[in-house]
Amino acid sequence: MARSSARYVCPACAATRDTETPLWRCPECASILDLADGPGLTPAAIDKTDTSPWRYAAALRVPRDGAISMGEGGTPLIERRWNGRAVHLKMDYLAPTGSFKDRGVAVLMSYLKQHGVASILEDSSGNAGAAMAAYSAAAGIACRILVPASAPAGKLVQMRAMGADVVPIEGSRQDVSDAALAEAEKTFYASHNWQPFFLEGTKTVAYEIWEQLGFRAPDNVIAPAGGGSNVIGCHIGFRELLAAGQIDRMPRIFGIQAANCGPVAAAFAAGADDYIPTETTATVADGIALSRPVRLRQMLAAARQTGGAIAAVAEDEIVAALKSLLRQGLFVEPTSAAGAAGLGKLIAAGTIAANDTTVLILTGSGLKASARIGGLLGLDA
Ligand SMILES: [Zn+2]
Repeated sequence: MARSSARYVCPACAATRDTETPLWRCPECASILDLADGPGLTPAAIDKTDTSPWRYAAALRVPRDGAISMGEGGTPLIERRWNGRAVHLKMDYLAPTGSFKDRGVAVLMSYLKQHGVASILEDSSGNAGAAMAAYSAAAGIACRILVPASAPAGKLVQMRAMGADVVPIEGSRQDVSDAALAEAEKTFYASHNWQPFFLEGTKTVAYEIWEQLGFRAPDNVIAPAGGGSNVIGCHIGFRELLAAGQIDRMPRIFGIQAANCGPVAAAFAAGADDYIPTETTATVADGIALSRPVRLRQMLAAARQTGGAIAAVAEDEIVAALKSLLRQGLFVEPTSAAGAAGLGKLIAAGTIAANDTTVLILTGSGLKASARIGGLLGLDA
């Protein structure tokens, strides 16, 4: 079977390792691991017969031979108006399990399958767990997922229905991550937040936006930011296109957090380059409620190096944006509305100019959060 030729690179101590043996952290210093940037892409190298991430196989370090794909990726880019401005909506909630996570998990799970991993451990507030459950089922890999006890019931049903061993953990989202770390000695820790092969998949959203805009980069990309995989994936994907000479400048990358749980926005606002102590409370944007994201520094770098920002929005702003999206027929989950609320504030502040090309990534389907949406809108029976 085909194998990845990429190398792991530690951003903390610069150690490198081949990817023959899957790792989840640096063996030298326990940091997260990255992959060195890939070769990027040219229009001629696109496989137009494929709509999955392997449409860009020339730029992926996970071979298509032996890959696990269920038609993820290839999502529409539609044009709408938002706060009086023309914007593009990247419909990444249209995916096999209803979230953008599928494109990252497809690539990660393919790598793990190709390297003989038989069972995995994940922790997730919902969407990533659903994607891991689905793709591990498709790959024939046993999957154990630690979840917050407060996670929406629909998301847990989705994971269990596909055969995952779902273990509710009392406490915060961070408590769930801590519990997973404690178990990582026993089972391969495939956390989407730690695994660089997950980002290898999420970076394809940048390639798709580039292709759909006629092989151009937008001026601005906006996405909700919790673990940061869209922010960092866009940074990697567009950076590779820039290095390959396919775009002439980077888009500004904006990550939007909930003010109730905004450690990255707080660090950004303070001019810090690492975590600063931040109070966190519950938010309707449950998909981005991470108090200590492991790739926080990389999110800050993505925003700062591109002239973007990591910004925070209040609960009432998220709910107002959600209502506005729903009234346009866009049935997304509240977490996606955080991105839309942030876009509205950037437009109102004049940060996004009238003639800018702007892409908002819509990340998760409302079908998994219908009870919560009903509650927010007062539609409970
Ligand atoms: Zn290291």
